[in-house]
Amino acid sequence: MNTGRRLVYLDHAATTPVAPEVEAAMRPYWREVFGNAASLHHFGREAAAALDEAHAVLGCAIGARAGEVIFTGCGSEADNLALRGVALAMRRTGKREPGHIITTPIEHQAVAATAQQLKDLFGFDLTFLPVDGYGRVDPDDVRRAIRPDTVLVSVMLANNEVGTLQPVREIGALCRERGIPFHSDAVQAPAYLLLDVNALNVDSLALSSHKFYGPKGVGVLYLREGTPYIPPITGGGHERGRRPGTVNVAGAVGSAAAMKYVSHQREAQSARLAALRDRLIAGVLDRVPDARLTGHPTDRLPHLASFVFKDVDGESLLMALDVEGFAVSTGSACTSGNPEPSPVLLAMGIPPAWALGSLRVSLGYDTRPEDIDALLDVLPRCVERVRRYGLSDG
Ligand code: PLP
Repeated sequence: MNTGRRLVYLDHAATTPVAPEVEAAMRPYWREVFGNAASLHHFGREAAAALDEAHAVLGCAIGARAGEVIFTGCGSEADNLALRGVALAMRRTGKREPGHIITTPIEHQAVAATAQQLKDLFGFDLTFLPVDGYGRVDPDDVRRAIRPDTVLVSVMLANNEVGTLQPVREIGALCRERGIPFHSDAVQAPAYLLLDVNALNVDSLALSSHKFYGPKGVGVLYLREGTPYIPPITGGGHERGRRPGTVNVAGAVGSAAAMKYVSHQREAQSARLAALRDRLIAGVLDRVPDARLTGHPTDRLPHLASFVFKDVDGESLLMALDVEGFAVSTGSACTSGNPEPSPVLLAMGIPPAWALGSLRVSLGYDTRPEDIDALLDVLPRCVERVRRYGLSDG
């Protein structure tokens, strides 16, 4: 058990705490301004005004118009709406049958499982692009994969397990030349990268406010005006008919406040965290035998360091570090007693004996240099113990 020392949270890629400014901005929208933004009376209009403002703030932050921003229930929902909504609409034009979707083997499940369902239940063809040893897609492979019936390309902006950034702008440009809608899952990016939907050449983009110091359960879908789209959720006319359901106004306000919060410090924090991340990477590779960095050495999220350790069980390592007071994550999962390596790492060509021992350390705006030094002090011991005994000895 932890012995009363400070717990160090190094899992910001899983979620971030709500910033105090964000909490304060949301507070009036639970009890004071509680109206349904679709109602015509005073209470509704008050809520609608706050919602309009949230659309405008989010749009402005990513170079989009307010009307192109759709609030959803989470980042996963934003990905679902984009993939299903656009693929089905594109096929309905009748010119692209049976319908072909291009994606990568390193997407988050929100994209991967949706693409798979579009194949299994809706009869779309699915192509997974190859990735290199860093988890990067080559735009030439996208060019080669495109077919006359391609209805959608989906490539994530920044990978959640290894932090590698994708050449989204180039892929978007070649999709645009061919009139193929391009979606990107940018859920991991907003706290660290300035996003501009025009520079990125995307037609849709998924965000999730709990990854950038906003509330959980609020996602954002950017959908470029004119992109073919059938709303996968049917119901009322909320969010201009693209996402029916009474809008979570407090969540939308919180999401906008969070976007403002990160916009003010993104540049400085990214530079500060990249230096800490590099110190962590150098320290781990120096002190832990049989350790490798995963993902691209430089073209990666500034706050994310990820490793594999040979002959280590990732979940046991996570638990050993938890006992020492460090919250981190692993890509390997234990299902029915069998450790399974992360499919993302396997797609990058990492052998299973290494991929089983994966560790993701994701820093945040409150991470201090002492936190990294403290982790570097305990990690070699934890790896050694898990290697020797399998499970943490507490
Ligand atoms: N996409 C990526 C890359 C993610 O990292 C996550 C969450 O971890 C999601 C999508 C899903 O976001 P949410 O938890 O808001 O559904």
